[in-house]
Amino acid sequence: MAKVFGVVSRFPDHLPYFYPNYYEVKDVAGVWHPPIPGTIPMVSIFGDNRVAEAHPDWVQEGPDGLRGTRAARYFDWDTLCPGRDEVWSLAWDWIERALQGSRSSVLRLDDVSFAREGFCQCPVCRRRQGTEDGTRYRVHRIAEFVRQARERADAIHFTLYPDPFPGHLPRRFGVDPTLLNRWVDVYVVPIYDLHYATTYWLEILAGAFREILEKPFYIELYGLGVEQASLLRAAEVAQFYADGVIIAYDNNLTKIRTIQETLNHARG
Ligand SMILES: [Zn+2]
Repeated sequence: MAKVFGVVSRFPDHLPYFYPNYYEVKDVAGVWHPPIPGTIPMVSIFGDNRVAEAHPDWVQEGPDGLRGTRAARYFDWDTLCPGRDEVWSLAWDWIERALQGSRSSVLRLDDVSFAREGFCQCPVCRRRQGTEDGTRYRVHRIAEFVRQARERADAIHFTLYPDPFPGHLPRRFGVDPTLLNRWVDVYVVPIYDLHYATTYWLEILAGAFREILEKPFYIELYGLGVEQASLLRAAEVAQFYADGVIIAYDNNLTKIRTIQETLNHARG
């Protein structure tokens, strides 16, 4: 499979130069950015500050009543409960509008997971779970969501939390790639750093994901403000292990295109 070089960008003029060209139609803040035709829409599903503020009872609940919001430790955004049909209805609406507006048959799903271990214990999840094991309940709920999302798109690109340690994805997030492989076409693993001054840890994570994933996967690197030489080095490492490299949120088109060309040359 040919390696790809793509972007996640907020700059419409960057998008034509790359594929995949992910455009964040809805982010974790809950802000809707009208889709751009010819791009792959990226939709944050169970992360949405606006919806969480409007519907506090839809927020994920953890052990000891800990709420999955920005106000709590660990969380950078508010999390919506994947057990709630109301949230799914919103999600289908977002997805349909995103795909239609983008005229895309490919969909990037972001934040399709439970918040972390022990989540969610809201009344709806407790009732749905019944006597079932918690991890089992969570992985099946997420798998069902992805199955239904796949009915709406020809291909699903799915963001994975960068934790390849055996058992962590299912236990911590309700995400079990062995179940999701049927509906996911490509996994995208964001491995972010503000400098990439060293890359040994990137290499460890990238190598581990290559071992555990049975589908193509791309590594997504954070680009904004990272020095070109460091980002290039990180991209070279990522490309060695993954099927593609994605540069996220960089505002410097010349820099990204230079890295793209260098990697292309390296490939021959
Ligand atoms: Zn819940």
